[in-house]
Amino acid sequence: MSRTDSVYDLVVIGTGVAASTVAWECHSAGWKIAIIDSRPFGGTCNLRGCDPKKVLVGAAEVIDWNHRMGDKGINNTKDIRIKWPELMRFKRSFTEPVPKARENQFSNAGIDAFHGHASFTDTTTIKVTEKGGTDHVLNGRYILVATGAKPAKLNIPGEEHVTISDQFLELDYLPEKIVFIGGGYISFEFAHIAARAGAKKITILHRSNKPLGQFDPDLVSQLIQSTRELGVDVQLQTEVKGIVRSSDNGFTVNAFYIRENGNRTKEEHIIETDMVVHGAGRVPDIETLDLEAAGIEYDKKKGIKVNEYLQSVSNPAVYAAGDVVVGSGGPQLTPVATYDGKIVASNLLKGNYLKPNYKGVPSVVFTIPPLASVGLQESVAKEQGIHFKTNFQKNTSGWYTSRRIGESYSGFKVLVQQRQRNATTTNGNDDYNSNDGRILGAHVLGTHAEEIINIFALAIRLGLDAADIKDAILSYPTKSSDISYML
Ligand SMILES: Cc1cc2nc3c(=O)[nH]c(=O)nc-3n(C[C@H](O)[C@H](O)[C@H](O)COP(=O)(O)OP(=O)(O)OC[C@H]3O[C@@H](n4cnc5c(N)ncnc54)[C@H](O)[C@@H]3O)c2cc1C
Repeated sequence: MSRTDSVYDLVVIGTGVAASTVAWECHSAGWKIAIIDSRPFGGTCNLRGCDPKKVLVGAAEVIDWNHRMGDKGINNTKDIRIKWPELMRFKRSFTEPVPKARENQFSNAGIDAFHGHASFTDTTTIKVTEKGGTDHVLNGRYILVATGAKPAKLNIPGEEHVTISDQFLELDYLPEKIVFIGGGYISFEFAHIAARAGAKKITILHRSNKPLGQFDPDLVSQLIQSTRELGVDVQLQTEVKGIVRSSDNGFTVNAFYIRENGNRTKEEHIIETDMVVHGAGRVPDIETLDLEAAGIEYDKKKGIKVNEYLQSVSNPAVYAAGDVVVGSGGPQLTPVATYDGKIVASNLLKGNYLKPNYKGVPSVVFTIPPLASVGLQESVAKEQGIHFKTNFQKNTSGWYTSRRIGESYSGFKVLVQQRQRNATTTNGNDDYNSNDGRILGAHVLGTHAEEIINIFALAIRLGLDAADIKDAILSYPTKSSDISYML
């Protein structure tokens, strides 16, 4: 059925968390809505990102727990293994029902849903091109762009051989040898899954000596050490030059080592592998939207240029939310996309008055052990000239909560602002009240780091002091109860 020349209060491009949040809030206010997606409804997180990935991480954790407890009363460590095809069937039990369920929800609510590729034809008009060829023309009083992100172009010969994260999460069989290009969270997480699932030769190639750049470097180095101990070859300062198909099932990755001074070595580094996976970052998915036709300013890497209300700086009928607004928005994460959606919905319905506040957004690398971070990094706090104290313990594997579960890698770094200046001491040095300042940043490595970080996130967002947290009575014996020793 072709629904051409339809007029809506809001036309939403995308069906991920950002798009869905705005669509539902505006629908509840009585607006007439159209929603479009070129792929199955549900977006990245539910279908190709966080949720399916965490199902695989869960299975990998079981393997790791068993290995860790091997000499501590558990005797089945040798037999336990992941049955990949079965695990993928379990994963699909989460992802497969999503598109139909979403579509039914939209149609039951009277939201017009379109399958096809959306692009602008003028400031408020969207053309939807269905796969079969039918075009729809939708006019919106407002348009929301929530098209998410896609893997960045690598611009190397043989790029067409690369497997992207969507495909990795759909693999029927796991290859024995895998090379990950880029040392971001996707590479580390997938490498940790693959290693526990039986892959034999896993390599992560990262261009600089700072993988996982948004996380604390001291804890990252601990995580790299644990990743290497797992058998994953993490090669830093190594840039991929190209990929060549070497056989029906094999590839040759050509890379070179970059010296500290930035010069490339002449010596090539060659790795034979069964699969090359893209883990080199994601960029806003805007290339095919024809933003020029709508006068929408954008940056290829940072996405749609928006003002403080997440409204296009050049086309007031257009708002943007989620991964598509990296430059002026928060990090590319699901809770941020949902939050953006709430801000945009409010601004659409009540006029521009809500501005996003991205303070205290936690990020997690779901490796085993996980690494989590919220608030300021040490280097940034120093750059900002803030006076703070760093509570850092590189290795807390001897603490009860780690030793109980045989964990050899755990640690933390917490930054606490030193804001109360007391009297000058007799030796002439300033005496600062050490522990009662604002919590500026928290970085945690170890089991349950992904949960502990949420307490710090709350503290940072609410501007709590270390003393407030120390005063809380937390359940024991839990990893969170360690927080009072971190402050
Ligand atoms: C492998 C992986 C793991 C991740 N893990 C985590 C995690 O653990 N925690 C976390 O917080 N975040 C994670 N993320 C990031 C998270 O998935 C995203 O931040 C979030 O899904 C962004 O939501 P969104 O609504 O902005 O966009 P999306 O959910 O990406 O939705 C955009 C939609 O727009 C559609 N679209 C694009 N262009 C067009 C067009 N022209 N016409 C029609 N439709 C179009 C797309 O098909 C897509 O469905 C992960 C991402 C990946 C890839």
